[in-house]
Amino acid sequence: MSTLYSVVYVSTAVRPFSQDDLAALLTKSRERNRAAGITGMLLYKDGCFIQAFEGEHDAATKLRERIRQDRRHQNIVMIFEGWIASRDFSDWSMGFKHLDYADVESYPDLGEMLDTLMRHGRFSMEPELAFKLLHSFTEQVAQ
Ligand code: FAD
Repeated sequence: MSTLYSVVYVSTAVRPFSQDDLAALLTKSRERNRAAGITGMLLYKDGCFIQAFEGEHDAATKLRERIRQDRRHQNIVMIFEGWIASRDFSDWSMGFKHLDYADVESYPDLGEMLDTLMRHGRFSMEPELAFKLLHSFTEQVAQ
């Protein structure tokens, strides 16, 4: 049986993250994730985050708790949490994409989902759709 665990969630920033804020978050996260064997993908658009991360159960659930307690974001909604057979983002200590208008144009589901999150602080979608969205950016992002 696999010992790998995956978490996917969305959240909203308490205040918008600047490029510097995002760079600092990523530098620290990638460093910690490499040390803990965590891989994943983070998307950001207009104050909304979508993140998937995966690793050994203990490492992944510890990170989930730290992220839950982070006061820089709120309205954290878990989309998926559970055991997985293999990693989806094995090449990324934390892949990242700052989404722009063109991305939302290309992925209408993304625009709708972020809009719901921003306006109502809630989110509902199929986990499969979230994975599909996160995966669709793997070829475009830095490791
Ligand atoms: P500390 O670094 O001791 O921070 C304690 C608290 O201080 C935090 O909860 C936060 O509220 C606040 N804080 C920390 N740094 C800053 C800052 N620069 N500016 C303002 N307030 C701050 N961590 C990972 O290791 N891997 C990830 O993949 C990851 N992804 C994240 C995704 C998002 C959207 C966010 C918001 C955070 C993410 N983090 C990630 C950071 C994570 O929430 C923890 O802050 C980090 O893991 C360090 O944990 P710690 O308990 O040592 O917190």
